[in-house]
Amino acid sequence: MLRSAVCGLVPRVVRRSAGPSVRHLSAAAIPVPSAQPEVHFNQLFINNEWVDAQSRKTFPTINPATGEVICQVAEADQADVNRAVKAARDAFRLGSPWRRMDASQRGLLLSRLADAIERDAAYLAELETLDNGKPYAISYMVDIPTVVKCLRYYAGWADKWEGKTIPIDGDYFCYTRHEPVGVCGQIIPWNFPLLMQAWKLGPALATGNTVVMKVAEQTPLTALYVANLIKEVGFPEGVVNILPGMGPTAGAAIAGHMDVDKVAFTGSTEVGQLIQQAAGTSNLKKVTLELGGKSPNIILSDSNMEEAVEQSHFALFFNQGQCCCAGSRTYVQADIYDEFLERSAERARKRVVGNPFDLKTEQGPQVDQEQFNKILGYISTGKKEGAKLMCGGGVAADRGYYIQPTVFGDVQDNMTIAREEIFGPVMQILKFNTLEEVITRANDSKYGLAAGIFTKDIDKAHYVANGLRAGTVWINCYDVFGAQAPFGGYKSSGIGRELGEYGLENYTEVKTVTIKVPQKNS
Ligand code: ADP
Repeated sequence: MLRSAVCGLVPRVVRRSAGPSVRHLSAAAIPVPSAQPEVHFNQLFINNEWVDAQSRKTFPTINPATGEVICQVAEADQADVNRAVKAARDAFRLGSPWRRMDASQRGLLLSRLADAIERDAAYLAELETLDNGKPYAISYMVDIPTVVKCLRYYAGWADKWEGKTIPIDGDYFCYTRHEPVGVCGQIIPWNFPLLMQAWKLGPALATGNTVVMKVAEQTPLTALYVANLIKEVGFPEGVVNILPGMGPTAGAAIAGHMDVDKVAFTGSTEVGQLIQQAAGTSNLKKVTLELGGKSPNIILSDSNMEEAVEQSHFALFFNQGQCCCAGSRTYVQADIYDEFLERSAERARKRVVGNPFDLKTEQGPQVDQEQFNKILGYISTGKKEGAKLMCGGGVAADRGYYIQPTVFGDVQDNMTIAREEIFGPVMQILKFNTLEEVITRANDSKYGLAAGIFTKDIDKAHYVANGLRAGTVWINCYDVFGAQAPFGGYKSSGIGRELGEYGLENYTEVKTVTIKVPQKNS
């Protein structure tokens, strides 16, 4: 995921960065952050109560800017998942307060949750930056407002998700009801902790489901604070349960649980495959997956060079390069290739890397040691396989998980760095000649999440957009998201769509009801 920034603070991202959530606000609009926000919640949230893991186990959550422990957090496993599923099942029983609640009231609760998050925006942004490492200016100006908009958008849907009346043959009245699926397991990643939580909770709660959510072990803190807001605004007990914990234990327990009706997952393609297998061998729970990508970003020679360089930089480097839809294969048409490559390297050299609480910072640390090592490994492979290192390529600080903005030129399609998801600040620039050629090469990937096209020629833009096998195509922009527009992947990038009206379908069972209508003279 995503988008935009803050005028004057992150100038290059800001002025031209795409997105409905771009706010042209001054530095004065951002509260001065505390780099040491207090942590209020570090337990499991089950049935609207704070509890320790049954095993009493905890794990440390780390500040990626320093490598130091922020605090210990309760570590859920199978036993806690069972407890949470029971609470969610109970909250879902016929006649429960949640099942009897008017749809409009469900919408109101979601709306109040958005209000509470907005009220506590400055604190939540501090906590997000502390736990994840993303620049505070981005947490405050991009992530939080996008969370609020997402929840408000789905609040509006709660009483508008209508079934149909259907003209079947015969003397029957036939209609459909849109009913909740039931207990939904939701497993989320660490790159946009609050936003991924909102993307999952919004449609699930608008449609009347109950939730057991496992948050990422790298970034559990903000989701737990939101859990408290969920209780504060009045969601009934057991409707939302939030569990910090590890993937192979707590996550796998959700995916394989016999009493979970659906699992929604965002993360790597490898784990997505495990989730689908677990669903298949347990109770055939419904599965939606939002997975990895290696998205092509195609720059035609007639594009506005300055815009294309800046947007392509943003497409790759935004969020420390930790975006599933990052434009990580930048295809540039031959006649502008050399200039584009040089300018992209120059832009990357100017990228401001540093303390994420400094409002001038464009790039903070990577989320953890594992990602840091993995990215450095890819840089080394890129060099070994013969790509041309234009800038960066190393560690950017003597502590914390900082990596220099890195640009590779002369990248070939078969190189590892052009095929695998790096999930870091490492840009691959490739050369192409014709549109037919670039469409074929862009599609030659197991992924199909997103793509970008830069051109002044609308006919070419449509031609390329129609040919690409990707769930989202951005033209002359990148990472533009709206709660109203669906997002998801072709091929190994996922199953189903999140956001927008389409996102509601993943959380809905359609029930067909057919009634005999007696005829007057029969
Ligand atoms: P990343 O490699 O970006 O950390 P993952 O796919 O490993 O992405 O993690 C995304 C989410 O999936 C996290 O919440 C993680 O704990 C969880 N997860 C990891 N492994 C499993 C698993 N085997 N079963 C269920 N969830 C898992």
